[in-house]
Amino acid sequence: MISIGSIRYSLNVNIQGQRALDSIETSSNHLFKALIDQETGQRGYNLTKDADFLEPYWQGAKEFSESSEALLQKTKEFPDLHAEAQKIVEKGQYWHDHYGAALVVQTQKGNQPSVQILNEGKKAIDDFRRSTKNFSDKIEGQRSIVRNLMKTRINFTLAALMISIFVIIVIDLLINIKLLKSLIKPIIELSNCVKSYTEHDFSKGIPSYRKNDEMFELIKNVDFMRMELSNSITSLKSQVNIDELTGLYNRRHFNEFIEKEWELAKENSENFSLILFDIDYYKNYNDTYGHLAGDDCLKIISERLQDLNHAPPNCIARYGGEEFGIILLQRTEQEVLALAEEIRNAILDLKIPHQGSPIADYVTISLGAASIKPTGDMKPNEIISMADKALYASKQKGRNQVTYYTKQFSY
Ligand code: GH3
Ligand code: MG
Ligand code: MG
Repeated sequence: MISIGSIRYSLNVNIQGQRALDSIETSSNHLFKALIDQETGQRGYNLTKDADFLEPYWQGAKEFSESSEALLQKTKEFPDLHAEAQKIVEKGQYWHDHYGAALVVQTQKGNQPSVQILNEGKKAIDDFRRSTKNFSDKIEGQRSIVRNLMKTRINFTLAALMISIFVIIVIDLLINIKLLKSLIKPIIELSNCVKSYTEHDFSKGIPSYRKNDEMFELIKNVDFMRMELSNSITSLKSQVNIDELTGLYNRRHFNEFIEKEWELAKENSENFSLILFDIDYYKNYNDTYGHLAGDDCLKIISERLQDLNHAPPNCIARYGGEEFGIILLQRTEQEVLALAEEIRNAILDLKIPHQGSPIADYVTISLGAASIKPTGDMKPNEIISMADKALYASKQKGRNQVTYYTKQFSY
């Protein structure tokens, strides 16, 4: 809008300027014609003595005076033209005063003007004629100046307009790029988070986002999904490792645990111990009290295992059927034996009636214990086999007892 206004203003200034110059040119032409009329009347009167010629003379003199005034007034806005106009007026006035009026008076007195005076008069009028011609050229020059000023102003306005448009486009682009970045950044972060979550890595926090828009809702929902998924997976993982009947760790977890800790014990040259125990005459128990009661017996024993008073084992698992495995890390032989004995007594103290047992009135267990510092390419099977042999020995020796594995079992 400002640009259009500015261009319109430049055009108006040009039009006004050109009109003012037209008007100056008109006044200049009038001035020229007025002096030529005077000269024609004066010459005619000099040659013929006919007073009729005095009429154009006086008319010209009158118009010269009026045109002079108008010309000087109109050129005030154009200093160069004004100075030139003053010279023209002076030259015209000079001719009038020294030759025009003087020669008329001489003729009126009946005198014939000299050739010299006539020549001087002609020179003065020629000088005036040249000046008016120059003046016309100057007006034309001034027209170009006014026109060029308008062109310069319009060009400047257009250039300013172009620069403004360019700056606006650049700013717009920058704003858009910034906007785009602020939108894309959380999307990429969110996508990386979701990828981690699908790989069950929940350590990566949700991207922080402050605006309250659709993206915020999306991020909030993904965070909710992360918590739900994390809880479900944790619960699933624990369920996978737990034996349904007894609530103890299952064989699967026992295997994973023993593999992992076996290698660590190897690296750190630490003692690795295992107690395996088996319920004595359990088949008889089932036969006497029924299978459901057999299940209950397993549950009661498991609960008691989880309640062991001191030096709790590192992993208690149902190894299979009515057999249990207890892993102990960094324990001495004495500590392992003490715990095995404590377990045996604890189960006996439960006083679960067992009429089918030929060795006691209550449920008893037989235990096999073993310890070793794993080295080289030893596998966990090594200690399982040792504890199993010790357990077998306990059974052989009459059950309800603990046997610690020694080399003598390596048959
Ligand atoms: P031993 O003193 O030599 O160990 O004799 P045992 O009778 O305890 O051993 P055996 O291997 O002959 O019998 C084990 C029984 O345990 C057989 C099986 O039916 C029973 N059993 C295994 N798992 C379960 C279970 O989850 N619930 C019940 N009720 N019985 C089970
Ligand atoms: Mg058994
Ligand atoms: Mg048994």
